Amino acid sequence: MGHREDAVIVNTIVRQALVSAEEVMGANGLNAVLRLSGLGRFVNNLPPDNLEPGIQASEYARLNQAIEEFYGRGGRGMLRRIGKASFEYAINEQAALLGVAGTALKLLPQKQRIKFILNSMASALKKSNAQVEAWVDEEGETLAYIESSCAICHSRTSEKPICYLYLGSLGEAVKWATGKEYSIVETHCLAKGDDYCRFEVGEALDNDK
Ligand SMILES: [Zn+2]
Repeated sequence: MGHREDAVIVNTIVRQALVSAEEVMGANGLNAVLRLSGLGRFVNNLPPDNLEPGIQASEYARLNQAIEEFYGRGGRGMLRRIGKASFEYAINEQAALLGVAGTALKLLPQKQRIKFILNSMASALKKSNAQVEAWVDEEGETLAYIESSCAICHSRTSEKPICYLYLGSLGEAVKWATGKEYSIVETHCLAKGDDYCRFEVGEALDNDK
């Protein structure tokens, strides 16, 4: 297993990431990290909204790393916020791709709602890019989102999981589906030698009824 060399990110997903990063970091912050990660061609120049290959997955990973390093101790929180903004962008701009338009989740139990949105995210990513391998795993009561083609950690190595942006989008997705904050923990990461990145949905964090 591991990352494939020729992995790419399609334009609409690059666009989603850059719009979200600008929202969180401002134009100057985004431009700085674009230059630092060798993606200066996107300064004031967003990719088009289509499914053509946009950048190499390794470039996307470098962008994530640049954001983490640029903000030092605040980097991880910044990446989570960008992930959160990415899910909001997906709901607003890519609802058709996500397949969530007109769904009535209110009548479903919490767990079914979580499963629904995680499955929607996995299939949207697979629909947008045939290289993507993502799925939802259910073990007893535990739900987890898994991707064996995760681009955030492409070509990177680390002792600990590093896909913070994913934690932000998944947390926001689960919140959208349930109305509650849930803890999401990355239990496995390709960067530390695992076969995939695995994000486990934990407990609801608030007690709102
Ligand atoms: Zn990863």
